[in-house]
Amino acid sequence: MHQLTLAEIARGLADKKFSSEELTKVLLARIVQLDPQLNSFISLTEDLALTQAKAADARRANGESGALLGAPIAHKDLFCTQGIRTSCGSKMLDNFKAPYDATVVAKLAAAGAVTLGKTNMDEFAMGSANESSYYGAVKNPWNLEHVPGGSSGGSAAAVAARLLPAATGTDTGGSIRQPAALTNLTGLKPTYGRVSRWGMIAYASSLDQGGPMARTAEDCAILLQGMAGFDPNDSTSIDEPVPDYGASLNGSLQGLRIGVPKEYFSAGLDPRIAELIHNSVKELEKLGAVIKEISLPNMQHAIPAYYVIAPAEASSNLSRFDGVRFGYRCEDPKNLEDLYKRSRSEGFGPEVQRRIMVGAYALSAGYYDAYYLKAQKIRRLIKNDFMAAFNEVDIILGPTTPNPAWKLGAKNSDPVAAYLEDVYTITANLAGLPGLSMPAGFVDGLPVGVQLLAPYFQEGRLLNVAHQYQLNTDWHTRTPTGF
Ligand code: GLN
Repeated sequence: MHQLTLAEIARGLADKKFSSEELTKVLLARIVQLDPQLNSFISLTEDLALTQAKAADARRANGESGALLGAPIAHKDLFCTQGIRTSCGSKMLDNFKAPYDATVVAKLAAAGAVTLGKTNMDEFAMGSANESSYYGAVKNPWNLEHVPGGSSGGSAAAVAARLLPAATGTDTGGSIRQPAALTNLTGLKPTYGRVSRWGMIAYASSLDQGGPMARTAEDCAILLQGMAGFDPNDSTSIDEPVPDYGASLNGSLQGLRIGVPKEYFSAGLDPRIAELIHNSVKELEKLGAVIKEISLPNMQHAIPAYYVIAPAEASSNLSRFDGVRFGYRCEDPKNLEDLYKRSRSEGFGPEVQRRIMVGAYALSAGYYDAYYLKAQKIRRLIKNDFMAAFNEVDIILGPTTPNPAWKLGAKNSDPVAAYLEDVYTITANLAGLPGLSMPAGFVDGLPVGVQLLAPYFQEGRLLNVAHQYQLNTDWHTRTPTGF
């Protein structure tokens, strides 16, 4: 039963092959048995899951239907869950029980989804390896000595290991697409404003976006359907109707114009990944797509711009965790200053502290123009590059990451080496565009992802291309040994 996708689960539940309660019990037992190898969960919510599963079964018995009704999922541990620990992977929030549900959590619960637990993540979503979590590193089910990617590494590892069919993630600079790529999943970062950020603990507010992680594009469509939509509680939520994503999956790719940016294939890219990306291009050509080389000339400036903007916003967002208003408080503070200093230096890990310092520096009076303002100007140039490209093509395609999953600890002493791994993903966040990563093959037994980008609100187009690709390839069906 643990091999079933969300789509298959929906059919099984509708055909009364099994109940949500039965399925939930199987998956909870599997998590208890296998997760010690992976560390992909921070909290298991067994009681809640069983209550929700029974309620979903009762709703079905009363004639209700729906693809998410009774479907088991998990939430990245930065989505607020009422009465349940919401740690953000940090000691700072180790004992924080959220007083309300995030909009995403509430919407999925209303659709009948069953929450099995809260998944591990990089502390405050800062990282690309899921090694900065206060709760320890997450392991990649494809090779337990390798990282699963981050920051949504817990959701990725859990879904890849068939502990559950799908989970939520968030993507500020690649944290859905990159771990999806490194664990052989399909992951979608929606257009900025498509999914409500209310109750999603902020890292960098102008970049953060929640989205689905699953094994197939079809399942991402199901989960996104439950997550997307306007929310008056989020001032950056966009009041656009949500299309039927399932209905968008079966469009023909005949004549679809795919742009491949020449800058993507520069020196930093592992040539074995380049080859797999070219293979996926050929596959899409067979399905009728027309390939065109394009250029994104300002891409080289994306990493420096992102690593000014994201820390700047983080330094502001994380100022609320001061041991007084929110978060961990140190023992026996001598005075107010000592309380602030020790609460924040004991509560935050080293990567979070580094980013707060970089961000506060970039925003300080003497440096604002030189760093923050300049980074914002680069951000506009990057957006303009995409707008020009989308005048010529319908989709942009390239690698999701320059390398496969690295060994645990390999980049710990060199944070910039880890930042460079984000080169292909962060531009979509800077521009606010939707992006999807899907399985495209293996290098040394480790999964490789291909990334698709589309114009604003064209999530359906991304899901369509990925679904058609998955109907004609089987990379996404491969299962890691031992799981
Ligand atoms: N790796 C990037 C960072 O550390 C992206 C993280 C994310 O998308 N949350 O900022």
